[in-house]
Amino acid sequence: MNIILLGPPGAGKGTQAKLLTSRYGIPQISTGDILRSAVKESTYLGNKAKEFMDSGSLVPDSLVIAIIKERLSSSDCIRGFILDGFPRTLAQADALELMLSGDYRNIDHVIAITVNNEELIGRVMGRLTCKGCGRGYNSKFDPPQVVDKCDSCGSLLFQREDDSPETMRARLQVYEEQTAPLIEYYASKSLLRSVAGTGSIDEINRNLVCFLEG
Ligand code: AMP
Repeated sequence: MNIILLGPPGAGKGTQAKLLTSRYGIPQISTGDILRSAVKESTYLGNKAKEFMDSGSLVPDSLVIAIIKERLSSSDCIRGFILDGFPRTLAQADALELMLSGDYRNIDHVIAITVNNEELIGRVMGRLTCKGCGRGYNSKFDPPQVVDKCDSCGSLLFQREDDSPETMRARLQVYEEQTAPLIEYYASKSLLRSVAGTGSIDEINRNLVCFLEG
């Protein structure tokens, strides 16, 4: 099962991808996570990507396409994968199709998670992530039991640098201009389903699973 999760920043792609990973035993591939860890380790890729990420703009297609090409060639992707945050431009979508067809693979499902901009800004402002295990929280909607500490592993929680109000506005604009056209792109291939990204995490997940298994 090869799945793409589409949606603006804060829509809950990462949260839903983690749930699908445990349900289907296929990996979540988040270009954002891969880039953040490259930035943290100051690799060549990380140093190139940092300024784009800090300003809320997209990292050049050539860099992210190369990341995905390598990642999808790993043996753990043979049974399927969940792409979270890729593709984000039409050029990335075309490159993905080309690389998969070279291996006689294709995309089975594209799910667009929809949430209005006002709600997205509220969610992202409160978003917290665990330094240790990566579990996500929201200081307003889904707070940890102890302030700034992860319920699962006890590590410190942090706020992403690009989750500031200014950067978030830039990211939403980038989404509208460069990523939203992918909705039409995949609809025209009859691969797209839309799921409302509001309601409880479990409810959204049930709707998603319904599309995938229905
Ligand atoms: P995310 O965690 O998916 O919100 O991604 C954080 C940041 O990483 C984005 O704002 C972009 O700067 C960069 N990024 C992640 N995925 C991509 C992609 N597919 N294409 C270009 N830039 C990306």
